[in-house]
Amino acid sequence: MFHVKHLHHHKKVYMREIRYIELVFVSSYYKFICYNGLVSGQIIAIVNQKGGVGKTTTSINLSSFLGEMGHKVLLVDFDPQANATSGIGLRGDQIKKHSYHLLDSNQDVSEVLYPTPFQNLHILPATQDLAGAEVELSNMVSRETILKDRLRPLLDYYDYIIIDCAPSLGLLTVNALCAAHQCLIPVQCEYYALEGIAGLLKTLELVKGGLNPMLRIIGIVLTMYDSRTSLNRQVIDNARAYFKGLVFDSVIPRNIRLAEAPSHGLPILLYSASSTGSLAYSNLAKEFIQRVQ
Ligand code: ATP
Ligand code: MG
Repeated sequence: MFHVKHLHHHKKVYMREIRYIELVFVSSYYKFICYNGLVSGQIIAIVNQKGGVGKTTTSINLSSFLGEMGHKVLLVDFDPQANATSGIGLRGDQIKKHSYHLLDSNQDVSEVLYPTPFQNLHILPATQDLAGAEVELSNMVSRETILKDRLRPLLDYYDYIIIDCAPSLGLLTVNALCAAHQCLIPVQCEYYALEGIAGLLKTLELVKGGLNPMLRIIGIVLTMYDSRTSLNRQVIDNARAYFKGLVFDSVIPRNIRLAEAPSHGLPILLYSASSTGSLAYSNLAKEFIQRVQ
C-alpha cells in the first residue's frame, strides 16, 4: 500500500514536472528559434575601440555581400565620422534624417532609412551631428538602451542589422553593444593589436554582466594582412593560438582596391569584384552565415 502510494505520489510529481519541462522546453525552444535568427533577425555590432582597424571597411563589405546573397540587411552608421555613409555612396546633401534623429522616440523610423546600390541593403546614415548625441544621451533615462529600443522592432523586416561603431567605448558604442545580439571584432595584423583586444573583452564582459547578458562574440576578423612580412604571419599565429576558434578562417589581406573603393562611394563588390579584397570579404560573409545560425 505504502509502495503504491509512494509510486502514486511520484507519478503526480512526475506529471507536474513533465508539464513544467514542456513549458520550459517550449519557451526555450522559442527563444532558441528567435535567438538564432530563424524567426527573427540579428543585430551585429562591428566593434573595436582602436581606430583604423577596418571596422567600416568590414561593415560596408560584409553588409553588401550579405545583401547580394539575398538577405535583407540594414547597415547602421553609428560613428560621427560617417565613413560607412559616404563609403556606401550616400552624399551629405541627400541625407535629411540620420542616426542622430533615431534617438528621438517620436522620430518615424522609416524616414531614417535610405536605399543603396543593392536592392536588399538599406543604410541608416550618420552625420557629424551624432557627436552631439553622446552628450545628450548622458542626460537621458535608459540612456544605454535607446538604440536597442529603436532597432529591435526593425528585425521584423531585416535579417541582419550591422552597426558600424566609432573608435571609442563611449555611450554610442555602449548603445550599440546593448542593441546587439553579437559583436564582430576586426583586428589589424600588427604587433600591438592583441593587447588592445584584452581591454575590449573586459568591456564586453561588463556589458554582458549588466546590460546585455545575451551578448556573444561571433568572431574576430584579422584585417590588412600583408603576406610579405613575417610579423603579420606571427600576429595571425598568436591570435589563433590565443583566441582559437573565435578567429574567422577568412583573413582580409591588405589590398589597395579596398582602400580605394570608399572614395568612389562603392562597396568592393561593385568597385573591383575580382580583387583579393573582394574575394576575402565574400568568404567572410559565407563564414558569417555559418556562424550566425
Ligand atoms: P575608425 O576607427 O576611424 O572608424 P575603422 O576601424 O573603421 O576606422 P577603416 O576606416 O575601415 O577602419 O580602415 C582604415 C583605413 O584603412 C581606411 O582608409 C581604409 O580604406 C583602409 N583599409 C581598411 N581595410 C583595408 C585593407 N584590407 N586593405 C587596405 N586598406 C584598408
Ligand atoms: Mg570607421
